[in-house]
Amino acid sequence: MKRYRIALVPGDGIGKEVAPAGKRVLEALAEPGSDCAFDFEEFPWGADFYRQHGVMMPEDGLDALKAKDAILFGSAGDPAIPDHITLWGLRLKICQGLDQYANVRPARILPGIDAPLKRCCAEDLDWVIVRENTEGEYAGAGGRVHRGFPLEVAADMSVMTRTGVERIQRFAFRLAAGRPRKRLTVVTKSNAQRHAMVMWDEIAAEVAREFPDVEWDKEMVDAMTARMVSRPASLDTIVATNLHADILSDLAAALAGSLGMAPTANLNPERVYPSMFEPIHGSAFDIMGKGIANPIGTFWSLVLMLEHLGEAEAARRLMHAIEQVTANPKLHTRDLGGAATTSEVTEAVCARVRAAAKKSVATA
Ligand code: ATP
Repeated sequence: MKRYRIALVPGDGIGKEVAPAGKRVLEALAEPGSDCAFDFEEFPWGADFYRQHGVMMPEDGLDALKAKDAILFGSAGDPAIPDHITLWGLRLKICQGLDQYANVRPARILPGIDAPLKRCCAEDLDWVIVRENTEGEYAGAGGRVHRGFPLEVAADMSVMTRTGVERIQRFAFRLAAGRPRKRLTVVTKSNAQRHAMVMWDEIAAEVAREFPDVEWDKEMVDAMTARMVSRPASLDTIVATNLHADILSDLAAALAGSLGMAPTANLNPERVYPSMFEPIHGSAFDIMGKGIANPIGTFWSLVLMLEHLGEAEAARRLMHAIEQVTANPKLHTRDLGGAATTSEVTEAVCARVRAAAKKSVATA
């Protein structure tokens, strides 16, 4: 039996509700009949930690994470602390510090979900968005001087490196090549941004030559939003810069049903460092403490974690359990128009995971 060391970083807001729910699901997966087990260590980092220590996570926090096989993250954000402090102090520190340069965001309409694109059937929307996760608009380059004076200047610069662009494009082409439709759309804005985005386009064309089986095209990010709504079936795998993909994946999540359902993997594909898995939603303080947060995005993120760890059978079992639960409207949370609580959905997924394990033991 394989044992995995999992770091649990619930963070803030509903992260503190959905991350423990994720832990319960992993524990259910590890019960008799399974050939994997998990040892958890929880790290109480985030806004409360910041209030006590002046930082979102300790200086040596990354070293503690490096000793783990994977990280389950909840969310970061607090109404009383500026967003750039909570984002840069925790999530970006981990993604950049552990070189998790490929952010993978599947979007699909799960069974039973009433998605807003009425003309669109479930097969029309089955995308994977690949987000560059360590540089671009989130490089942190820029500055602010003469604060408060009329001559105040502020600048944020998007920084792209040949290495950074090449590795994310190659990752996306490889992912597209492994999917049935072998189709990749490269999102750009090289009409207006005439330096970095032009290099982005040129490198995409260079990398494309390594993947003759992949049919690829290029789309401006503004046109892309319209295409996602009006021609969803024309898309399969999508690669975009850090900021563009951030925006497009929220749109994708909403089109697939709810922000509460969408998963993310922050991958260090070379496996030098552990990868991090999290729902794409934020801390959602408006619903915090009410027990109504949709935990499906967290559970789907665990499917991505299990796939990354090489536990394909456990990943399949969990995805099947999730789909059985979403298919039942009585188990929909409020964001999906239902009345189920976080713990009811969690218990339902755990019960189906256990039932599937018993069945596989019985047939073995
Ligand atoms: P942050 O600033 O941390 O990104 P936010 O509240 O601005 O947080 P999100 O948390 O991403 O943004 O969510 C936007 C809205 O979507 C929330 O106000 C909430 O109502 C809804 N929402 C997000 N996640 C969930 C979820 N898991 N379950 C139910 N509703 C959700």
